[in-house]
Amino acid sequence: MTELRTLKVALLGCGNVGAQVARILIEDADALAARTGAHLQLNGIAVRNVNSKRDVELPQELFTTDAETLVKDADLVIELMGGIEPARTLILSALRNGACVVTGNKALLAQDGPTLYEEADKAGLQLSYEAAVAGAIPILRPIRDSLAGDRITRVLGIVNGTTNFILDQMDSTGAQFADALAEAQRLGYAEADPTADVEGHDAAAKAAILASLSFHTRFALENVHCEGITSVSAADIAAAKDAGFVIKLLAIAEKLTDADGGEGVSVRVHPTLLPREHPLAAVRGAFNAVFIEAENAGELMFYGQGAGGTPTASAVLGDLVSAARRLVLGGPGRTETTTGHVPALPIDSAVTSYYIGLDVADQPGVLARIAQLFAEHGVSIEIMRQTIHTDAASKVESAELRIVTHRASEAALAATVEAVKGLDVINSVTSVLRVEGV
Ligand code: NAP
Repeated sequence: MTELRTLKVALLGCGNVGAQVARILIEDADALAARTGAHLQLNGIAVRNVNSKRDVELPQELFTTDAETLVKDADLVIELMGGIEPARTLILSALRNGACVVTGNKALLAQDGPTLYEEADKAGLQLSYEAAVAGAIPILRPIRDSLAGDRITRVLGIVNGTTNFILDQMDSTGAQFADALAEAQRLGYAEADPTADVEGHDAAAKAAILASLSFHTRFALENVHCEGITSVSAADIAAAKDAGFVIKLLAIAEKLTDADGGEGVSVRVHPTLLPREHPLAAVRGAFNAVFIEAENAGELMFYGQGAGGTPTASAVLGDLVSAARRLVLGGPGRTETTTGHVPALPIDSAVTSYYIGLDVADQPGVLARIAQLFAEHGVSIEIMRQTIHTDAASKVESAELRIVTHRASEAALAATVEAVKGLDVINSVTSVLRVEGV
């Protein structure tokens, strides 16, 4: 039998994900050697504090605070520290020293991905980041490889488990946002500072990565329009439910063609109404899913655990095995293609259906005036429903109007809503939410 080559692995970070990666590297060493054709030897683990208690019992001599030296003597570097620095400098240093890199760091990729991709390209090395989007779910490699011969037209993703858990709680229990967030924090689904999740920043970083791979063009965080879920109320959820919809925070990347045939990509994150029968509506709790529409493949859905140390470690190990096989077999690193050159569109160009809730005076002719205003702005109404309420004390009657429009541009919708607000019969605009999947 031929002697297997040894590949030296440096692990940067030993937190939720890193500890599980270290465990699998040690426990499954034989299986990994059989699959890669090389012994994957864990040379060391860089952390801030070598004496911290870890989720997994690991040999103490592996730990170091000297990440730079560890990286310089590695064939494969796994970056699971998170944050921008020193992760960025260490990844660049690894690539300059000839190592392939695996990372799960979506924040870094969204902020400075191009610098890292170019360094990997220049060195002919592999930089893989499957764990950066939707944890355990294999989604980036299917987009990059399996769908490389197709044309993706649209990607809709539930890519943040915290916000999906909160919205699901609100939908199933009627809870307000603050109570659902507190429950998510109690169960460990939300961090003490939940800003990155609930404001949509985490989903926006993933949207930029999904859009870049899907449309063969590099999109940065600044190309992503981002709205979080903090303003979604229990009343919005109840009204959506009543009308047959569920509210999800979606990361959306879609190709749009304007009247002159010009193409662009709209990349955005916002709360979205989905019909309850849409496959993404069935994604409950903290689960993630990505729904893809492609010209030839049609509709595809990828579902699974979007976070957690062990599930995310699965995606990291998949990338590691792929990079190790490449080192064993030779050949350049697999990279994404950037031949698309499609511009990112501003949010005003996005085209979608809308749900609009209005509190209106109960007077004759109101519905006709509102319908006419919509028509004047080029927004056509698909469904209009009215419910009458009587104030118990004053006995004054008001009507709640729920409108679902046909597809229209954001610009046309914004102008319509502004005009509606100016009508004397409108008490308030109670909600304006985008609708997909109709
Ligand atoms: P974590 O639990 O916070 O662990 C971070 C680790 O990195 C710790 O071991 C820490 O050392 C080490 N570290 C941080 N800064 C360092 C520095 N300056 N020098 C040396 N070591 C440093 O993070 P995680 O949840 O495992 O996430 C790791 C990465 O995976 C992040 O990029 C995250 O976005 C991504 N990711 C995570 C998940 C998930 O479910 N957690 C899912 C998908 C992607 P100490 O232990 O000594 O403090």
